[in-house]
Amino acid sequence: MPSVKVENVTMKFGGFTALDKVNINVEDREYVSIIGPSGCGKTTLLRIIAGIIGDYEGHVYVDGKLFDAKPLEERGIGYVFQNIALFPNMSVGGNVSYSPRAKGLSNSIVRTTTLEMLELMKLSERYHDYPRSLSGGMQQKTALARALASSARLLLLDEPLSLLDLKVRTELRYELRRIVKDLGLTAIHVTHDQEEAMAVSDRIIVMRRARVVEDGTPVDLYLHPKKIFTAYFLGESNVFEGNVAEADEDTALIDLGGLAITARNTGFQAGEKVIVMVRPELIELGGHISGRVLKKTLEGLFSRLILDVKGIRMIVKQPYSNVAQLGEGSSVNIRLPEEHVLVYKHPGRDLYSEISLY
Ligand code: ATP
Repeated sequence: MPSVKVENVTMKFGGFTALDKVNINVEDREYVSIIGPSGCGKTTLLRIIAGIIGDYEGHVYVDGKLFDAKPLEERGIGYVFQNIALFPNMSVGGNVSYSPRAKGLSNSIVRTTTLEMLELMKLSERYHDYPRSLSGGMQQKTALARALASSARLLLLDEPLSLLDLKVRTELRYELRRIVKDLGLTAIHVTHDQEEAMAVSDRIIVMRRARVVEDGTPVDLYLHPKKIFTAYFLGESNVFEGNVAEADEDTALIDLGGLAITARNTGFQAGEKVIVMVRPELIELGGHISGRVLKKTLEGLFSRLILDVKGIRMIVKQPYSNVAQLGEGSSVNIRLPEEHVLVYKHPGRDLYSEISLY
């Protein structure tokens, strides 16, 4: 069964370190996403697990077996590349049936598997077409069908849905998770799309600058990130610098410079410099903190408000109907529930260097 362990992997391209002592563990049948800013090393990590890059330091184990010297074709991995890489001289059907045919499965099994995967990707009518005549999205779906038809137990997916339009992408990500779960596969999925990562994954690994920052379930990473970078990178967040004005065992009063807010105390002392994070959708209306609407935009059924709260810029998201009457310039009262105010030790450097993407 394909569990994956990446142990202390470092990869250098010339003098540039693309991966720096990276450790990850993926359980058998787990669906894990890797997210992080462009260039942080996600694709390099997948290529190392796949066996495409071999000259790294450290070790890769699959199912407890050392894979470092194992040739690519013997790894039993289904890989959907970022740049697709279909066989240009084969039809859609030829691409999808390639692996089951190469394994010597019977014609009827090859055909059934191929048709099933093409049906799933809504590509049946394209069976005889060649990749060059397909849109980018169709090519991506063909690559997915090919990986799923390969009967590999470990899938490595590098931005597998990035070329699809939003609606298809949203539908297909649920299908993808369902198939992985139904077939009992292990999947490692690299994506820029955080919503996609939240929707498909059992667990998300966050990377930055060649290193793993932290990992956790989507809900844990969203609601209780351990690192400020995760709070900032995953979804939208309000991040402020502040000072602990008062602290007892249970609560801390934090001065954000003109505005004091209460948080649960997780070990801070009065006088400490801290970073505070609050998710925009967890800020409630109708409290004692007054602000003014600077900007209001619509995001689906949610409204996104930028408020000026005593000179502090704060983002608030509320269902459209809750704030329908508010316009730019309106006064509004809000509440920051203390259980949703997360407090971090100040890194001691400037906040920007802690959260900047590159
Ligand atoms: P993206 O999200 O943009 O695909 P990524 O996180 O997948 O980015 P990688 O493709 O792993 O990032 O690249 C990590 C770093 O290593 C980048 O700075 C990239 O330029 C560099 N890099 C990757 N492959 C090579 C190579 N073959 N030679 C030199 N540098 C490379």
